[in-house]
Amino acid sequence: LSGLDHLKHPGLNKGMAFTIEERQLLGIHGLLPPRVKTQEEQVELCKLSIDRYENPLNKYIYLMGLLDRNEHLFYRFVADNVAEMMPIVYTPTVGLACQKFGLVYRRPRGLFITIHDKGHVYDVLKNWPETDVRAIVVTDGERILGLGDLGACGMGIPVGKLALYTALGGIKPHQCLPITIDVGTNTQSMLDDPLYIGLRQRRVRGSDYDELLDEFMRAVVRRYGQNCLVQFEDFGNANAFRLLEKYRNKYCTFNDDIQGTAAVAVAGLLASLRLTQKRLSDNVIVFQGAGEAALGIAELCVMAMKGEGTPEQEARCRIWMVDSKGLIVKNRPEGGLNVHKERFAQDHAPVRTLAEVVEVARPSVLIGAAAIGGAFTPEILRKMANFNEKPVIFALSNPTSKAECTAEEAYSNTDDRAIFASGSPFPEYRSKSGALFRPGQGNNSYIFPGLALGIICAGILDISDDFMLLAAEALAEIVSDDDLAYGSLYPPLHMIKDCSVKIAKKIVEHAYNTGKASVQPQPLDTEEFIRAQMYSVEYGAALPPAYPWPDNQPRVA
Ligand code: NAP
Ligand code: MN
Repeated sequence: LSGLDHLKHPGLNKGMAFTIEERQLLGIHGLLPPRVKTQEEQVELCKLSIDRYENPLNKYIYLMGLLDRNEHLFYRFVADNVAEMMPIVYTPTVGLACQKFGLVYRRPRGLFITIHDKGHVYDVLKNWPETDVRAIVVTDGERILGLGDLGACGMGIPVGKLALYTALGGIKPHQCLPITIDVGTNTQSMLDDPLYIGLRQRRVRGSDYDELLDEFMRAVVRRYGQNCLVQFEDFGNANAFRLLEKYRNKYCTFNDDIQGTAAVAVAGLLASLRLTQKRLSDNVIVFQGAGEAALGIAELCVMAMKGEGTPEQEARCRIWMVDSKGLIVKNRPEGGLNVHKERFAQDHAPVRTLAEVVEVARPSVLIGAAAIGGAFTPEILRKMANFNEKPVIFALSNPTSKAECTAEEAYSNTDDRAIFASGSPFPEYRSKSGALFRPGQGNNSYIFPGLALGIICAGILDISDDFMLLAAEALAEIVSDDDLAYGSLYPPLHMIKDCSVKIAKKIVEHAYNTGKASVQPQPLDTEEFIRAQMYSVEYGAALPPAYPWPDNQPRVA
């Protein structure tokens, strides 16, 4: 390493925080302005700089530039300003960045594996310069947020998620690898865009696709070992479920859209029970949507109800699901029931609209995850208020334009009695009587960084759903009475880092208790063990320590 490397390498660079001694000994003295800054002063400058941009996409480009220059400062800045930076590094702005990926692309970040690399996936993976990767987030770009098929431009998602792995879960940057599998895109506007960065072809499906994915999983194990975590992200519905079933018992893997969403939503439901004074099994839940998110949540609800002693069939009867064809019922004339939906088919005559389903099922909980904006009409919300003293309303679809209702609509149509949470952030709401509500955000970032931290620390190879329920329970426990008093079912965003460690601790302990931990021996102090492995945003020393020798030994010839 030359002195210049310390300025050029984002993992080593400290900018003006290099001390004068470091500058002199590294041979970079004079290349920096004379002033020496603290990291706190640098963070202040980041704040001033990003505030100068009004356009969110420009804020995104600024942040990625910071990551390219000075890694420690980037993670310090994001971790210190989670509530402000989350919407830029992640939803909704990351969606915009994906749509404009050809425009915002500056420098290599993440690995592209294409269908034409079939037979050579390991060779491509070998080109990644880091040898100790512990976490991969992979997408094939088919269902990016609620934006649909963006092909190779989906790379913004694994990059953003892994930035949160480090900022919120303390997983070291060099241990994280974002990957996009490019098998084409079926979005014509992408194929026509002269700036498109991916393969200009329609999506490959069938055995060629499956073989590529199989080869990819094998290549990951060959290069990084069996306990390298592979988080699947924003795959299309059919592939998401299929690949999860296929790989979950063979590899260290989970699907965040199915399982992570389930954990964060169930955490919110568990917290809501403290306000409604019910058991989960006392509720009737209606879902608008029966896709990755809704089915994931529904299955985890069944597991939680079983945990309360409710028989499985009774638990399933309490869950009513509505997809694009109406209520999911046995022998539906329109058909279209996959095995996942089949398990929730009600023994009931067909019902077409959500409003009618609400009328028939009289739910206490209404959850939206179908990306149909405004689906929770004032009429539906008022019905929920008629049936329940405290109706629970989750509008989970993203981005904001796809939300089933706004926070204000949820409160104002229920005499302010609703218990509300959403996927996208909504501002505070003050009722006519002057009460203040701070609706919580059912953001997956409450779960996946801590979950991943626990998985990596304990070396869990098989991520079964009991870990997901445990993470949900851990998060629900962190919600304070004060949060609940403001109508929030989640802790404030700035507490996510603490949530991550608490969730990781439960995951690790459960792994040892159930014989699922491959890291041996079991640590004596779980939390200390976890914290010792976490990334520090503080700068390391640029120089090795110098130490004195005895006076009677010559130090200079
Ligand atoms: P998905 O697998 O494609 O599922 C979409 C579901 O919506 C399908 O079941 C579809 O029905 C249903 N649907 C479509 N039109 C409908 C209509 N008019 N009425 C009723 N249902 C309808 O997508 P997903 O992964 O579940 O994501 C769905 C939404 O949830 C997205 O907006 C996403 O951003 C959001 N989400 C939020 C979070 C979070 O807040 N933490 C996490 C993950 C996802 P068919 O099955 O009949 O096609
Ligand atoms: Mn996702």
